[in-house]
Amino acid sequence: MTSLIARCVAGAAIILIVCVMPLYTIKEPVSVMVPRISVEGPVVRQEVEHTVMPGETLFRLSKMYDVKVDDIMLRNQLSTKTLTMGQKIVIPGAASLNDVIPLFPSKKWKYIIIHHSATEEDNALSLYALHQRRGWDSTGYDFLIDNGAKGTVAGHVDATPRWIAQKDGAHCKASGMNTKAIGVCLIGNFSLGEVPEVQLMALVRLVKYLKEYYDIPATNIMGHGQVPEANTECPGKLFPWQKFHEMLAAETASDLEY
Ligand SMILES: [Zn+2]
Repeated sequence: MTSLIARCVAGAAIILIVCVMPLYTIKEPVSVMVPRISVEGPVVRQEVEHTVMPGETLFRLSKMYDVKVDDIMLRNQLSTKTLTMGQKIVIPGAASLNDVIPLFPSKKWKYIIIHHSATEEDNALSLYALHQRRGWDSTGYDFLIDNGAKGTVAGHVDATPRWIAQKDGAHCKASGMNTKAIGVCLIGNFSLGEVPEVQLMALVRLVKYLKEYYDIPATNIMGHGQVPEANTECPGKLFPWQKFHEMLAAETASDLEY
């Protein structure tokens, strides 16, 4: 009898857990770090202030700056692990900024589409706000590559909340790309100026990484304007396609940390 009651209680507990779980499930990422720049010599650590970008968590900040979650919580006297976008967080003893690229096992991603923001100054927060004003639920792209404007570090890669949730894109309707393409946006206007080297290198690393993980052929990596039926010059007429493809072919997997 006792075991029957115990089983009923356990059953009720499982039903309760299932009921309070969100309707969607987010797969655990195989979280990885891709060092943005190889740093020679001893790691220089310093206290920095970080503005929380959309989708960033304490875990991600901890990986980005190589600092323990507990140390960040203590320095900021945080009583909860929930961060709010736009919140200023002091990172004690921060190492140089690393990109953190979460990866999710999926057969959905067959293409990579490259965009530019067509603006001189933006960051993950301002693009998120812009896309919300357009009525989208989040940033339209999956990844952003900063250009140093608005307090960012040039060449830093941001994974957006859309990528974290593995949702369809809102970056390229043409040829049904929103359902099958990873959207990567470089901040900047490359119809007016050239792509800075640090952004191009970051793009090559990211694309190489995604290409290998999702087994995407080189022919399926293209600019927004190269997508059949897309009528745009995005990512700008000065985007260096030949150089990009040469760099992509030259970069080896050993340059990436898994
Ligand atoms: Zn575009």
